Amino acid sequence: MQVDYNTYKAQDFKCKDCGWQGKGEQLDNGDFSALHSIGDLECPKCNHLIAFWQAPLKDDINIEE
Ligand SMILES: [Zn+2]
Repeated sequence: MQVDYNTYKAQDFKCKDCGWQGKGEQLDNGDFSALHSIGDLECPKCNHLIAFWQAPLKDDINIEE
C-alpha cells in the first residue's frame, strides 16, 4: 500500500498480522531506498511491512535523447 508522504501520519492504519491499529505517525520507519526514494513503514508491534511512501521528486525529470 503506497501512502502519501505528506499525509500518511494522520491516516489510520491496521496491521493484518497482529491486529495493531493506530496512526501513521506511530509506524516504525524501516528500510529507505535512496535510489528509489522509497521508505518502508512497519508495524511498531511486529515489524510487519504495512505501507511505504515515495518521496516527491524535486523536479519532473525529462529524459530525452
Ligand atoms: Zn503487527
